[in-house]
Parts: sequence; structure tokens; C-alpha cells
Amino acid sequence: MLTVKELNVQGKRVVVRVDFNVPIKEGVIRDDNRVVAALPTIKELLSKGAKVILLSHLGKVKHKLKEEDPAKFEKQLKDGNLAPVAVRLGELLGQEVLFSSVTRGEELEQKIAALKDGQALLVQNTRYEKGEEGFAKEEGEGKGHDLAKYWASFADAYVMDAFGSAHRAHASTYGIPEALKAEGKPVAVGYLVEKEVANLTRCVDVKKEDRPYVAILGGLKVSDKIKVIESLLKKCDKILIGGAMAYTFARALGKGTGESPVELDQLDYASNCLLKANGKIVLPVDSVIGDNFDPASRTTTQVVDSDVPEGFQGLDIGPKTRELFAKEISKAKMIFWNGPMGVFEQEEFQKGTIAVCEAIVGLEGKAFTVCGGGDSAAAVKQFGYKDKFSHVSTGGGASLEMIENDGHLPGIDVLR
Ligand code: AMP
Repeated sequence: MLTVKELNVQGKRVVVRVDFNVPIKEGVIRDDNRVVAALPTIKELLSKGAKVILLSHLGKVKHKLKEEDPAKFEKQLKDGNLAPVAVRLGELLGQEVLFSSVTRGEELEQKIAALKDGQALLVQNTRYEKGEEGFAKEEGEGKGHDLAKYWASFADAYVMDAFGSAHRAHASTYGIPEALKAEGKPVAVGYLVEKEVANLTRCVDVKKEDRPYVAILGGLKVSDKIKVIESLLKKCDKILIGGAMAYTFARALGKGTGESPVELDQLDYASNCLLKANGKIVLPVDSVIGDNFDPASRTTTQVVDSDVPEGFQGLDIGPKTRELFAKEISKAKMIFWNGPMGVFEQEEFQKGTIAVCEAIVGLEGKAFTVCGGGDSAAAVKQFGYKDKFSHVSTGGGASLEMIENDGHLPGIDVLR
């Protein structure tokens, strides 16, 4: 794979797919981490004298609302407006970043034509276009393919630096590089993607010196993580399962789970995993439970061993489990962690997630530790441990899919 460093881009137009999917409220960016994460690649290209054309999505745009509920559709477009990001990026780069309020047509074409060497232009939210997400579903000369070719027509080269979108074969993540490759034009990975791929590949192609390899899974749904559990069972030495998904496994073992969020249609799957696991799966031995998820309606919380009684739900791993998990973690040479151990957004149920964070951080310098993005990355940041991990991924879905698919993602494979 070519990297951004190797590209010769002086005076060339380079389309860069970035992940500027940042939280924006009333026009104000709440967290600019993703913009900051893209800076090394953008700076490299600008300093080499490229004309940089940035593409990103922002939030979700449901196109069927255009007919069904035009007012809601308009609100989606307003919420998905990338204009504030161009301003913030300009501040971070210390130079003006131009903005095209449209994803196609005269304004965009004129702004691209006027771009000078070392200048950057941010294009409006790629999801304003139906063909962006529709790309994968359309065969042959569908709209998504036309859109990809249209955007590709502005590019002498393409750089992929949106790791969080690399698991999606969309017009901007797959269609553009595919079209450019067909014309013999260079396509490359940016610094962010290069780092993500290197770190996550280590969790996929496991070396002897990285064993014991311990995975920690949590969060809400077994069904979201089915494939990754299967894949990790083949790669890991131990899988610690906490969070709400642990209760589906507990039920599969015939334990009482009270009102905990159990996925009944996944019980067979969970039983099967436990059978295949050969003792690799470690489940909680106690729980912090409450009589209501909603703090305003909750009257009591307590710790119980194993079974959760009727009228209660498990909301965090208990103190014995915290110790058990910390012990397993302390033996590891490599860690992959995805999903919180409890409802970490509520103070009463943070202890499990904090304990896992602390146990992992305790391995600093002795093991390779990866947090696989999403809510666990938010927790790591919230509790102040981000710099203590070997790697905190910027893509929750993408990092899980990378593990599931043995290191393959459509938006990366197309660059190979
Ligand atoms: P996920 O997106 O699958 O990683 O799930 C993250 C969400 O799972 C977070 O919002 C947590 O609050 C929630 N969660 C974790 N443990 C529990 C639990 N025991 N009961 C309910 N929700 C949970």
C-alpha cells in the first residue's frame, strides 16, 4: 500500500477522505478530536504544495424522508452541515480553509478550479448525496457509481484517512479510489489509517511474543458482536465478557438474570460459544444491580453473586469480577478491549469499566494494549487514561470489523 508520505503531489489535486463526523450542537463543535486526528495528513499534503480537496460525512441523512417528511429532511441537512468544521480546521491549520456548501455543481467546480497549491477546500457532507451510501447496493452504472466518478474527476490522487468509515464501501470510501485506480492514478493511505492498520493488524495476526492475548468485550448487544466473538475465540487465549452482553451468556448457562437486557434469540449462539471456548471465556461472578435503569426511578442498588433476582437488572460487574478480570489482564502480553463493563455513563456503575481501564494501564511498558474505539474509547478518555494505552482506535465499528474479517476492510483493501 502506498502511503501519503510517498506521494508526489506538488501542484496536484488530491482528494482526501477524512472522518470529520464530529458532534455539533447549534453550530458549535463539541469535540474536535477527529479534526485534530486528520491534521498530520492534511499538513503533509499542504506542505508539499498539493491542492487538497477534503471529503467527509457528518451524521446520518435518511433520503427517504425527502418525500415522507420534507421538514425533517431539511433538519437533517441543517444538522449535517459541515461549514463549522471548515472554520475549525482553518484555526487548527493556521490558514483559511475554503468551503463548498454543495457536493456537486457550479459552486464546487469553480472553487476547485480556483484552488491554489497549498490550499485546502472542504466539501459539504458526502451524505447529502443519496449515492454516497447507495454505492455498494448499486450494480454497474448506478447513481453511486456516477457520483464516485464525478468526484474522482477532480482528483489526480486519492488519500484515505477516515479509518472510522473504512468498513463501509461507499462512493467516497470505495468508489473514488476504484475509479482512480482504473485510470492508473495513485491512491494511498493517510497517517491515521496507516497507524490504525498497523496496530490492529497486530491484534489479528498474533505473534508468539504477544501471548497470552486477552480480549475484553462489553457493551450492550451480543448480536452486534457475534462475529467478533467467533473470530476472537480463534485468536485469543482468554475472552473476558462484561457489560450487558454478559447476561445473555449467564442466561444461556441457566442463571437468573432478572430484568437484565438478555437477547433471547442469541441464547443458542451463546451456549455454542461457551461449548467451543474450551474455558477461554471468562464470565462475571457477581454484579452490581438496580431496580431501575433510570436513576430518577431507582430506589435501590446492591451487589449480588451470580444470579440477578426478579425485579432487578445487572448494571455493572461486581467487586469479585473486577478482581478476577484484573488478574487475567495482569497476565496478558496483548489486550484488545471493546465495550464498557457497565453503564459507565452513570457514576454508580462506573467501577467495572474503571477497574478494567486501570488493570490495562497497569500493563504499560509490559504489554501491547488496544482500545477498540466506540464507547470504550469514550470511557478511556473520560477517565483520563487515553495516553496510557498503546493504541486507542478512532473507529469502533471499523476496528471490530477488522478483527472479524482477519484484517480486511473494504475501504483499505481497495487501496492495496
Ligand atoms: P456498545 O455500543 O455495544 O459498546 O454498548 C455501550 C453501551 O452499553 C453503553 O451505553 C453502556 O451504558 C451500555 N451498557 C453496558 N453495560 C450495561 C448493562 N449492564 N446494562 C445496560 N446497559 C449497559
